[in-house]
Amino acid sequence: MDNSTALLPGLIQIIAKTIETNAVELTALDQAIGDGDHVTNLQRGIQALSVQSGELATLEWQPALQKMGMTIMSSIGGASGSLYGTLFVALSKNLQAQVPTLAIFADAFAKAVDAVKQRGKADKGEKTMLDVLIPVAEHLHQKATASTSLPEIAADMKQIAMTGAESTRDMVATKGRASFLGERSKGHIDAGAKSSQLMICALVDALSKP
Ligand code: ADP
Ligand code: MG
Repeated sequence: MDNSTALLPGLIQIIAKTIETNAVELTALDQAIGDGDHVTNLQRGIQALSVQSGELATLEWQPALQKMGMTIMSSIGGASGSLYGTLFVALSKNLQAQVPTLAIFADAFAKAVDAVKQRGKADKGEKTMLDVLIPVAEHLHQKATASTSLPEIAADMKQIAMTGAESTRDMVATKGRASFLGERSKGHIDAGAKSSQLMICALVDALSKP
């Protein structure tokens, strides 16, 4: 795997494509138990990142991720803007190495997901993006040793992300807009869990190609 930020423009386009491909389904999920703006929120952020992608590719990982986090926070708005923004800012803060290995990235990602938990005052089981991010971070952290590569754990990672998203279907939301519905939030997958799953699966596919 090429470890430089030259990867970023391509990865941003991959994210844009998976959100576009699944826009109808994601919007329907946020309409069912939220306010229906999740896709337009994400697309505003992705558009802002696309504009910066040439510049991002010239930066080291830490400043690039910091810049991405700030851009996400200021362009997305809504709950997901501050949470995804926090994820990137915390990833930057915790990614000490200039050329991160998978093990170093896994450690920083686990800490970044902890920062999202704190920011949203939420945990696993509350029907949010954390039901995908937490199990993925735990699995990555557990598997990514110096001797493991992403292709070796790619299939597991994707399965865990999909299981996490699906697990939100029967949960009662206790955080975010869906929590206003209480018991009636049951029966629908959480939009943020689904978008996190889609983005993780697309990134894993792209990064684990030989
Ligand atoms: P908004 O809820 O402001 O309309 P979005 O529709 O863009 O923002 O994002 C909604 C998603 O944000 C939810 O589906 C859920 O996954 C996530 N979310 C909301 N509140 C929290 C929270 N406190 N902690 C973690 N994730 C949350
Ligand atoms: Mg919404």
